[in-house]
Amino acid sequence: MQSFDVAVIGAGAAGLFCAGVAGQLGLRVLLVDHAPKVAEKVRISGGGRCNFTNRDLDPRAPHKHFLGENPHFCRSALSRYTPNDFIELVRRHGIPHHEKHKGQLFGDRSSDDFIRMLLAECEAGGVTRWQPCKVEAVRQGAEGGYALDTDRGVVQAGRLVIATGGLSIPQIGASDFGLRIARQFGLRIVAPRAALVPLTFDAQAWSPYASLAGLSLPVRIATGEKKQRAVFDEDLLFTHRGLSGPAVLQISSYWQPDSPVQLDLAPGLALDEVLRQAKARSRRLLANELAAHLPARLADAWVQQEAAWQRPVNEVPDKALAQLAQRLSDWSLVPTGTEGWRKAEVMAGGVDTRELSSQTLESKQPGLYFIGEVVDVTGWLGGYNFQWAWASAFACAQALAAS
Ligand code: FAD
Repeated sequence: MQSFDVAVIGAGAAGLFCAGVAGQLGLRVLLVDHAPKVAEKVRISGGGRCNFTNRDLDPRAPHKHFLGENPHFCRSALSRYTPNDFIELVRRHGIPHHEKHKGQLFGDRSSDDFIRMLLAECEAGGVTRWQPCKVEAVRQGAEGGYALDTDRGVVQAGRLVIATGGLSIPQIGASDFGLRIARQFGLRIVAPRAALVPLTFDAQAWSPYASLAGLSLPVRIATGEKKQRAVFDEDLLFTHRGLSGPAVLQISSYWQPDSPVQLDLAPGLALDEVLRQAKARSRRLLANELAAHLPARLADAWVQQEAAWQRPVNEVPDKALAQLAQRLSDWSLVPTGTEGWRKAEVMAGGVDTRELSSQTLESKQPGLYFIGEVVDVTGWLGGYNFQWAWASAFACAQALAAS
């Protein structure tokens, strides 16, 4: 039987990074993945360019960019491995990169650069990598540690790290393995749900907007009440079935079923005032006046909703103008659901952080660690989920080497 200090299950962002760091700290590491290719989510991330971190991250205030039942859980790991630490690694590997808006860092070429970097780090740590390799069962070993029944035989490992990620995009290898292992050892789970995901609407109710598919515009989007209220200023994208784009992906992580989202389609514009001024000076159709401030397709589709809006602006009653301004700046709508795991960028929920040490990521089951997306820590869109993967992996690897 082969024996290792540590077995890491899942060769995605967190697993590869943890294995590499632990190996370089002198541990004998086995890294196992059931998929034929490593890090498929890194490959498809950021539109193929990998938004690998975000400069705008304050580890002292993690609740600003992370959600979960305890948003402060990630503070310790995030402050010990920062975006600058990862940027430094990227520089050392000579990977060209650039900053887009809102602190988001992307590779200039392709996500493959980052996968090669993670593999090189594993190589430098002498990590043994098995894939595709199926882990059929995990048992507590007779001499402490863990025994893994794999399709390459039984393996003994002193410590076990679960880095199998979330449930989104099952077609490229996502599985509930991590959640099953947590349950096997009596650890609590926060119910998983699709996050950073497009929202869908009742087909009939959506039909007036279906023709707008492909249209994108900057909006303010919000959901929730009082302390729970989340607000984002981002781009919105109309789709055939509903709404997507960064604004909607962000708000989807906070959206609760059966509750509304509110959209301001002309943020920063006093539309009421603008339309009244237009009425005083113009005889053009209201749709044309509106098109000076909104995409023309949206203006056209919107005025179709009321006969009073389909006239020259100077003939539209003040009340109807005010109604139009109100509906555009406070469009409230209740999604019927989301596009689900097929389209979600991440899983919200996961292994309950009350079961884990925030310093080491070790669970209450001694020698069993959980890192990355399988943990109930969910980042905003914009590189935050990778930064959590790197930081939790690093904290875990340090702890493995220290104990
Ligand atoms: P993963 O990277 O998902 O790795 C999990 C690994 O475990 C996989 O290799 C999988 O094959 C393996 N595995 C699963 N089940 C088993 C099993 N039973 N046995 C063995 N191995 C198993 N985040 C960002 O920060 N920036 C972005 O630009 C970005 N873009 C994204 C775009 C898309 C389309 C998607 C889907 C996600 C994106 N994300 C992005 C989110 C990011 O990819 C994840 O949060 C991150 O990859 C999580 O890292 P992880 O290591 O925890 O899990």
